[in-house]
Amino acid sequence: MVVAIKPAATENQVLEPFEPVEIAQDRCKGCGLCIDACPKHVLELNGAIVNELGYHPVRLTDAAACTSCALCARVCPDAVFAVYARPRKV
Ligand code: SF4
Ligand code: SF4
Repeated sequence: MVVAIKPAATENQVLEPFEPVEIAQDRCKGCGLCIDACPKHVLELNGAIVNELGYHPVRLTDAAACTSCALCARVCPDAVFAVYARPRKV
């Protein structure tokens, strides 16, 4: 599990859309543990993709609703997630 804090933005910095969760889809085995654990219900299996392991990997459906709680990362047995805290503007 990786939980990190992205650096705060400076006043003149152009922010890219914040992605609170990075998902290593190549390592996901589609077990669904993270989907059951997510309190915001923003994870699902991506039926449009089959990874090299032969599974539909998980994806984040709503970045704005994700709270960076990292429960998904805690339950994932394959260290698929990197979770980032939402940066604060300085
Ligand atoms: S960090 Fe929390 S809210 Fe965001 S996807 Fe993971 S479990 Fe869901
Ligand atoms: S818990 Fe990990 S391996 Fe299981 S579906 Fe979620 S990301 Fe994939």
